[in-house]
Order: sequence, then C-alpha cells, then structure tokens
Amino acid sequence: MKLLFATANQNKAKEIKAMLPSTIELLTLADIDVQEDVPETSNTIEGNAVQKANYITDKFQLNCFADDTGLEIEALNGEPGVKSARYAGNERSDEANIELVLSKLDGQKNRAARFKTIIALNLDGEQLIFEGIVNGTIRKEKTGINGFGYDPIFEPENCGKTFAEMSLVEKNSFSHRARAFSKMIEFFNHYSSTK
Ligand code: IMP
Repeated sequence: MKLLFATANQNKAKEIKAMLPSTIELLTLADIDVQEDVPETSNTIEGNAVQKANYITDKFQLNCFADDTGLEIEALNGEPGVKSARYAGNERSDEANIELVLSKLDGQKNRAARFKTIIALNLDGEQLIFEGIVNGTIRKEKTGINGFGYDPIFEPENCGKTFAEMSLVEKNSFSHRARAFSKMIEFFNHYSSTK
C-alpha cells in the first residue's frame, strides 16, 4: 500500500519509514512532485493536521497523513499553540519566539505547559487522529543547547532538565511527536496483520 506523509522534511520521513511495516510504501511530497506549500491556515493544531492531510487526499486521491505540533502554555490561554513556529513573527526565529514567551511569562507563577502533536491519517476513506502530549513547565531562562524550537525553556515533568539538555535519543524516547507516531505505528502493525 502507498501512503503519503505530507511533509517536506526528509529526516522526519526517514525516521517514520523505518518504523512502518514493510507492506507500506512511504512517499513524501517530493515523490509526487508537490513544490507548493501545503496550506495550514486553521486556528487549531488538530485543524492544521487535518487540513494538510485532506489537501493531499482530495488533490491526489492518496492515503495520507500529516502532523502538526505546538507548545500550549496554561497562563497564556494555550498560546503559542498553533502559532508556535511564527509566534514572534514570520521569520520563524526560535530565539525571538523564546524571548517573547519568557517576557509574557515574566512574574507569572503558573509556568505549566505542554507540547502537543496531532497526526491526521486519511486511510481508505476514513480519518483517524493520533495525539501525543508531554506535560511540563517553562523555565525562567534558557538551558541546554540541543534540539530546536522551544526545547531550551521546556522542562518535561519529572525530568529536572530541559529537552535541550537531553540527547536526541533521550528526547525521542518519550517526546510528544514520538508518542503520537508510536500510536499510529501500533495501529498500522495491527492493520497490516488483518489485511
Ligand atoms: P511543526 O508542526 O512540527 O512544524 O512544529 C511547529 C513549531 O512548534 C516549530 O516550529 C517549533 O517552534 C515548535 N516545536 C515543534 N516541535 C518541537 C519540539 O520538539 N521542541 C521544541 N519546539 C517544537
């Protein structure tokens, strides 16, 4: 079965390919010659994942999945959320995004936050949603140099260190993305054994 991952990120695709059953041939946007940006204009993380997956399925009649991730901060009513990549502006600067979060939380006691990944999967006319969440807190300053995005200020619960202080292997062993993807992989392992 052909399955398209609506991403331009070949590293993400490679990782997922290695985990899927061998009966699934994983394609990416490059394989079907999609150069344009897949629209993500929804005001929710789930809405964006669904929009990306539906765009490809409607246009190319392909089974397809798409993911979307955001950092939700309790004291900021769930912001940056769906705006995580461009919180401080269209230049998508991790530095500026972090500075904006830290300034908005200045003096704030409630530092609770969570990372959320949603995967929308369109398979044979049905849609399935998989969710991965990691709860944690926002530090008062950056710590660590690994990872990307908000990793230097996000401390997952019961860890005592930020994502940016972890190796990639350690972060990926329980990250929001890993949790959502392992749910989908588990689904496919079962699905392919019943086909
Ligand atoms: P995307 O949906 O995977 O492109 O993620 C959207 C944005 O959320 C990224 O540009 C980052 O700012 C942030 N983000 C997503 N995943 C992570 C993560 O694992 N660590 C830190 N920031 C992340």
